Amino acid sequence: RRKTERDSAEIIEGIRAGIRSDLAQAITLVESNASRHFHVSQNIIQQITPLTGKSIRIGISGVPGAGKSTFIEAFGLYLCEKGHKVAVLAVDPSSSKSGGSILGDKTRMEQLARHPRAFIRPSPSSGTLGGVHRKTRESILLCEAAGFDVILVETVGVGQSEAIVREMVDFFLLLVLTGAGDELQGMKKGIMELVDAIVVNKADGDNKARAEKTAQEYKQILHFLQPATKGWETKAFTCSALHQLGIDKAWKTIEEFVYCTKETGVFESRRNEQKKTWFYTSLKDQIERMFFDDEKVKKQLPLLEKSMRVDEVSVSMAVEQLLDEYKR
Ligand code: GDP
Repeated sequence: RRKTERDSAEIIEGIRAGIRSDLAQAITLVESNASRHFHVSQNIIQQITPLTGKSIRIGISGVPGAGKSTFIEAFGLYLCEKGHKVAVLAVDPSSSKSGGSILGDKTRMEQLARHPRAFIRPSPSSGTLGGVHRKTRESILLCEAAGFDVILVETVGVGQSEAIVREMVDFFLLLVLTGAGDELQGMKKGIMELVDAIVVNKADGDNKARAEKTAQEYKQILHFLQPATKGWETKAFTCSALHQLGIDKAWKTIEEFVYCTKETGVFESRRNEQKKTWFYTSLKDQIERMFFDDEKVKKQLPLLEKSMRVDEVSVSMAVEQLLDEYKR
């Protein structure tokens, strides 16, 4: 039998034992668009669910060049040295559209990738409608079941992906650069209101003073914005991922965040909310899938498209007809 056809029981055992090849294989099943894989992966997810939820889920975003991979490598290695097990996942907004990838080429984070306490998963290469959500969320659960207690979810700062990542993490960190002025103005207020910390990277050499100044400017702006997390004042500080400075500060901030939000119950209620959102998203995904997989729908769709093209039928009439066809 091919490897992907293995018994799910075997894979689950492997995940429980923290065997990376089994974890990787389960994620491959989760990412697959084949329906036979879908059923196997759902069975696995169902069974590992009791083992999940115990990690800290951290989102990391920033424009290309902000230093995300450098930061994640430094941060990940720091945590591994402290005894944590670190998994790195990616939500890549480019992959669902173009098939190309802004994130996740193999040469990134080489040291971390080799560390026995780390697991790095490049972003899924092909997306389906709304699939990113499910795939990454389920990958998080799989990593947790395999014993990873810090999950880093990386994404590129291009707007939409940040909102998706916010929905699946406890803490959200935004990496930015200096050269601010305009940038600060131009940066969408919406994004600053999604994150729990803004970290000005490359605070080293000639750039150190400017980075400090930028962090101060962010602090001032943040004052006027809605914090992303109730009861938590969004932090702004500097780091140098390259020289591993401020990495400990980032971790201390996250620890403090977890402590505070667990104390107030915000941590738990956010996770519950996220679960609920996820449920509705999945439900919609499934309904969509069912609908478009339907033979009658598949047959009718091209015909209706044609009728619409020549204005034989209006858009809303076409929708109506298709739904009637489906319900028949
Ligand atoms: P990404 O696109 O956000 O993943 O950014 P990378 O981690 O690939 O970093 C982009 C470039 O910035 C690389 O050449 C890094 O070496 C450099 N870089 C990253 N962090 C720092 C830093 O803290 N200081 C300096 N001076 N350069 C950095």
